Amino acid sequence: MAESARSGEKVFRGIPASVGICCGKVVVLGKRDEAIPRWAVPETELGQQVERVEQALIQTRQQVLEIQRQVTAAMGAADASIFEAHLLVLEDRVLIDEVSRLIQEQKVNAEFAFSTVADRYLATLSAVNDEYLRERVADMRDVIARVLGNLMGRPDENLLRGLAAPGVVISHDLTPSSTALLDKKMVLGFATDVGSKTSHTAILARSLQIPAVVGLHDISEELVSGQSVLVDGFNGLVILNPTDQTLFEHGQLARRQVTLQEKLRAVQTEPAVTLDGTRLVLSANVEQAADTEAVLACGAEGVGLFRTEYLFIHRDALPSEEEQYLAYRQVAAALKPHPVVIRTLDLGGDKFLSHLPVPKEMNPFLGWRAIRFCLQELSVFRTQLRAILRASTEGNIKMMYPMISGLEELNQANALVQECKAALRAENIPFDPALEVGAMIEIPSAVMVADSLAKRVKFFSLGTNDLIQYTLAVDRMNERIAHLYEPTHPAILQLIRLTVEAAHRNGIWAGVCGEVAGDPVLAPLLLGLGVDELSAAPPLVPSIKFLVRRTKLSEAKELAEFALNCESPAEILARSQAFAHRVAPGLFNDQTEPAS
Ligand code: PEP
Ligand code: MG
Repeated sequence: MAESARSGEKVFRGIPASVGICCGKVVVLGKRDEAIPRWAVPETELGQQVERVEQALIQTRQQVLEIQRQVTAAMGAADASIFEAHLLVLEDRVLIDEVSRLIQEQKVNAEFAFSTVADRYLATLSAVNDEYLRERVADMRDVIARVLGNLMGRPDENLLRGLAAPGVVISHDLTPSSTALLDKKMVLGFATDVGSKTSHTAILARSLQIPAVVGLHDISEELVSGQSVLVDGFNGLVILNPTDQTLFEHGQLARRQVTLQEKLRAVQTEPAVTLDGTRLVLSANVEQAADTEAVLACGAEGVGLFRTEYLFIHRDALPSEEEQYLAYRQVAAALKPHPVVIRTLDLGGDKFLSHLPVPKEMNPFLGWRAIRFCLQELSVFRTQLRAILRASTEGNIKMMYPMISGLEELNQANALVQECKAALRAENIPFDPALEVGAMIEIPSAVMVADSLAKRVKFFSLGTNDLIQYTLAVDRMNERIAHLYEPTHPAILQLIRLTVEAAHRNGIWAGVCGEVAGDPVLAPLLLGLGVDELSAAPPLVPSIKFLVRRTKLSEAKELAEFALNCESPAEILARSQAFAHRVAPGLFNDQTEPAS
């Protein structure tokens, strides 16, 4: 939301998603009601554009058939027959041929060609003096919108590729898959209307170290390409036409951060040990094999969460077992002897594959996601399990399943691992028979059966991003309710406590790999709650280590004790802030330098 300030300057306040400050020219990409993009396609790639149209038609056909099936089940065949008209449009050879011809003749992209031809059809049909045909216009509009939706599933990706000069990207939304593609040389920073701190777009921005602000409501409507802005990822601000004074103040803020980072480098090679001698495992989260350099540089002891989804997106087919094996092995080899925890595929929610026709869901985060998807798409899961098992010969790989909601899923997944091990043995393919398998704890039901789960795994990793959204019923993506997303809610702290206690009762360790693990204000609280490992984005690791080394575990336990007996999330947060500011002054973006 905008706020007028000094002359010509306008301040938009959103949610800080990734630290850093940048200034540059605005490039507006996707607006809320997106115009159909048009771009020139080289001769050699025209075939691919025709292929995209055909794929979108197949995908749409599958979706319409699925809707038809659901309507038949709920309301009977007569009502479902309206979808016959939709299916006919999708099979209309004249329309399809005309779109292909336009692509070839005008050398344009698929969505532009399809929308141009479809508009012509609609105009012709609307003009006909026949009631029946005119009624078909609504059907056609509907199915055309669906085809375009499928074609433009990755609109920002195409537009991002076309950036001519470095700029600040402003968009209604950026999908995690498009964010993973961002070229740091061209995208100085970005800001979006929607999103929150724990959306995967924000998580990726942090790992790419691109300043970002999300949840700005309508910034993509307010700004136009070419304007000058400053993005302040520390405070969640986007400032249009920044004055000299604003630039000066933010320049100082950026310089203080550089000084801070230099100071933090001093602890890079030191262990994450508290003042009273307790050793914490401090690991890093990675999204791509290339992130290993950042892990080594930040002083983490290996990887606590390797989100493997990004190996699967941006491609036209699933990665083969061999390709996955090489990627997993590469990460493990680069970080040896430190452990690398590979998380099995967590597709769904806000991460989709363009080439897998996944039906649209009302509540994707409660839907066909993560382990649920894998336990149904068995060949996808088996391929990944085999690849991870093969890579485990490196000796430092561990594996964990996301979104375990109860024992049945864990047992099924473990049985599949046994099956894959038997198959590899029969094929004389080596793997580490002692590969440790863990479960992510990110659904409240898993906490409540944690003792049963703990008997069947070697570790727990608390996925607090999801645990918070599922416990508090607060969509982690929705900026409008971001104020309700409270990591210090007493219910969350009790769930963490229960998980850690169940783990320790059963002789296994429990870590945290959600975003709270990278928040210096919350790290002492987590320590006090007894977690054994924290895993955070590489840029956040040095601050967490700095803080751990200045914390007494006995005091962190007192903080946790206070929090577990307090009824107010705000009070717990305030006490945690006061604690962190006291033990590590200067870490918190104020004027003080960190004491070395
Ligand atoms: C989490 O939910 O906390 C987590 C680490 O997994 P993701 O953010 O990928 O859902
Ligand atoms: Mg999760």
